[in-house]
Amino acid sequence: MKKSIHSLFVLLIFGVLQLGFVARVHAADKPNFVIIFADDLGYGDLGCFGNPTIRTPNLDRMAAEGQRWTSFYVGASVCTPSRAALMTGRLPIRTGMMSARNRVLFPDSEGGLPSSEITIADLLKGQGYATAAVGKWHLGYQPRYLPTAHGFDTYWGVPYSNDMDPEPGSPNYAKMVAQDANYAAKFEQFNVPILHDTDVAERPANQNTLTGRYSDKAVEFIRAHRDQPFFIYLAHNMPHIPLFASEDYRGHSRRGLFGDAVEEIDAGVGKILATLKELNLDKNTLVIFTSDNGPWLPFKTHGGSAGLLRQGKGTTFEGGMREPTIFWWPGRIAPGVQMELGTTMDILPTFCALSGTQPPQDRILDGYDLSPVLLGKTDKSPRDTVYYWREEKLFAVRQGPWKAHFITQGCYGIGPKRVVHEVPELYQVENDPSEKYNVAEFHPDIVTRLKAVAERHIATIKPVPNQLDLRKPAAKK
Ligand code: MG
Repeated sequence: MKKSIHSLFVLLIFGVLQLGFVARVHAADKPNFVIIFADDLGYGDLGCFGNPTIRTPNLDRMAAEGQRWTSFYVGASVCTPSRAALMTGRLPIRTGMMSARNRVLFPDSEGGLPSSEITIADLLKGQGYATAAVGKWHLGYQPRYLPTAHGFDTYWGVPYSNDMDPEPGSPNYAKMVAQDANYAAKFEQFNVPILHDTDVAERPANQNTLTGRYSDKAVEFIRAHRDQPFFIYLAHNMPHIPLFASEDYRGHSRRGLFGDAVEEIDAGVGKILATLKELNLDKNTLVIFTSDNGPWLPFKTHGGSAGLLRQGKGTTFEGGMREPTIFWWPGRIAPGVQMELGTTMDILPTFCALSGTQPPQDRILDGYDLSPVLLGKTDKSPRDTVYYWREEKLFAVRQGPWKAHFITQGCYGIGPKRVVHEVPELYQVENDPSEKYNVAEFHPDIVTRLKAVAERHIATIKPVPNQLDLRKPAAKK
């Protein structure tokens, strides 16, 4: 009896200590996370990535105080699959969010990101985070696919691209831009809605003020949730065409309306970082800035620039999938330039590691935890390979500095046409980031190795129902 009382006492003490330990872990400040995602912004469209006529003082400062990643990729070179990759940490070919027939979701699409997928927001919400999605979603418009069904407490934004739903009889944007570089559309030409959670709050969305309102919503959410961990996914519709900027920003840049739109995004970044500093949250908040895919080249000066990188949106050349990326976390992330490999799919495992969250164990994840690199514990990224999928095919693989193209194709609308290479093209993209010099004939061993890497990767892909091809039947006339 005495022994059992003693054991009980020991257990009690142990239990109290355990509780104390758990409480300490919970009390340890979980970092806040903010992702600022631009749409169709190219590698060469920010001051800190070399643009000569777009001023981005806030992003430049964010880069100077944080890490500028020069080899950071997305999971696909167009909106919907790229966003699915970021949200799930998985290649869109695994989630049904990639198609050869429909490159993205449209307003009449009936598919979306399946509820069986686990998003960053699902994981962080389970850890007590307040979660908000602001801006472009593009992962499905049925209520079961909207952000509020994917782990976000709240959503405010345009659920798809801002050029969808053009009013019948509206001028053709591409044609207008070809005739007049300064062409400015009226927002009434596009009947896109703003949703608040699942309800239409405004239609057509006043796109002139959209960028500023998105940034303000993010600031509001930070203020309202300053006392608890939060995750904000702020996905701007700009600088995707049609371009819009508020009155204050029209004519603000030397780079026309495109530059005005980017400079307004930059101002919003400034407001968000200033709010975090003002509330003394900066030392506990990781902010990431990047873009969903490269510039939309057929729109000429209304599209962006991939800088020194080849091609743009829609392609598996570097200009389509390598994005200008900045990580900022004062006091935790040492300032500098990071040339190691990373992708948007690495964000989910990285956030998991930093918040003490278990990543999903029951599925293949395509991301890696980058936190040891970000926090300066190692110089080496856990990622050494990037897979470049387009539609439903693996077009290219990069491993270390070597990139093999098995299939090449230019931006849709302007070409060049698709070529399946019997002998893959090979580029050393650290020496030749512009992919100018095919050196396959000098390195047959590397070509063979990369072909084997591709085959092993393709063998891990299992067929899943395609979400992008589910569309409402056309109404009978
Ligand atoms: Mg895009």
